[in-house]
Amino acid sequence: MGRVLIIGAGGAGSVVAHKCAQVREVFDGILLASRTLSKCEKIRGQIEKKTGREIQIAKVDADDVRQTIALIDRFKPALVINVALPYQDLTIMEACLAAGVNYLDTANYEPPDEAHFEYRWQWAYEDRFKQKGLMAVLGWGFDPGVTNLFAAYAQKNLFDEIHAIDILDCNAGDHGRAFATNFNPEINLREITQVVRHWEEGNWIETPAILEPGSVHFSFNYPVVGSRESYLLYHEELESLVRNIRGLKRIRFWMTFSENYLMHLRVLQNVGMTRIDEVEHDGKKIIPIQFLKSLLPDPTSLAENYTGKTVIGNIMTGIEAGLEKTLYLYNVCDHAQSYREVGAQAVSYTTGVPAMIGAMMMLQGAWKGTGVFNVEQLDPDPFMEALNLYGLPWRMVEHERLPDKF
Ligand code: NDP
Repeated sequence: MGRVLIIGAGGAGSVVAHKCAQVREVFDGILLASRTLSKCEKIRGQIEKKTGREIQIAKVDADDVRQTIALIDRFKPALVINVALPYQDLTIMEACLAAGVNYLDTANYEPPDEAHFEYRWQWAYEDRFKQKGLMAVLGWGFDPGVTNLFAAYAQKNLFDEIHAIDILDCNAGDHGRAFATNFNPEINLREITQVVRHWEEGNWIETPAILEPGSVHFSFNYPVVGSRESYLLYHEELESLVRNIRGLKRIRFWMTFSENYLMHLRVLQNVGMTRIDEVEHDGKKIIPIQFLKSLLPDPTSLAENYTGKTVIGNIMTGIEAGLEKTLYLYNVCDHAQSYREVGAQAVSYTTGVPAMIGAMMMLQGAWKGTGVFNVEQLDPDPFMEALNLYGLPWRMVEHERLPDKF
């Protein structure tokens, strides 16, 4: 039915490539391209072993628009799936516009020299994608991605109006390492050390970063895994959901962190290892967080011995037929099961599977349009069905409303 170019051979990219290879009837050509060819070779070998299917691979520096255009022109995909880093979003979007192909990614653009992510840089491409008759879908992993979709599904099918959304992301897994991040360490640490924001009645409210005194947290009793301390965090889907969910009065994002994780992070931050500016070392300029990344375990290497589960979902309170109700939509994903299926841990799995399904929706025409879209602007129904079929089944239960203040 269609060919896809996947850019980025990391944890998420590997899952996207495996899952696309499993769905032969939709993805009849797959090219995995990344900066380091040996990583593509390794994934190609794993896919061949698991599915008997041979995918194509290539080396590309996606910071270079001309290289990316040349690759697209050679392979002629219907869609580019960007699972490189947020730094490459704009150059890959430029290449898609020049070469005339659709675009999908899992994280919004972030300038390398500023730990700050927002959609405005990518939303600015709206007119250019429209003029070319092309579609770009942003933020298509689990969170952002499925969490946006849960809100869209609830808005369409479960409520007349949603007033409060709490997105709760719990990793209750154990990888047996002293300290590691579950996706790219540089991107992850930049995200979680920022000042926290949530949105209430039209205003962004700032609260201290997770390690600072006064940071907001509470113990939430997650399905299957039990109570975990959950910290208020700023996350990118908040920015688009406040625009697209009608009647919303409050939205917050929570993520679990263990005491051990926070202790390591505190020390690393105190000694300057999470700095993103250049420092002089032995006559050379280095960026501490990039040096730290080279010391920390590669998130893909955690997969083999990872046990436990992730539980990610939305608690949503709103009105239906004049009555208030609260519903909790969530998915439970098992690290070891993800490893058995595609050789990945659950954080990569929950990112890569939605990206594959989104690509399938675009190739099959279930999602059509021109311009730049966030996930909640597209029809959630076919996607919710596909989540159940392709490895991320979801559940829905009634829940108590979460307190307004903690
Ligand atoms: P990894 O660091 O494991 O993988 C990134 C890959 O991109 C690496 O293979 C890297 O190459 C490659 N890459 C980096 N720069 C370039 C470049 N200039 N040209 C070509 N390839 C490049 O990251 P993850 O797989 O963990 O994350 C991938 C993306 O998914 C990130 O944007 C992340 O923020 C996002 N994400 C989204 C989630 C969601 O739920 N929405 C959750 C988790 C992650 P090399 O190997 O040479 O470094």
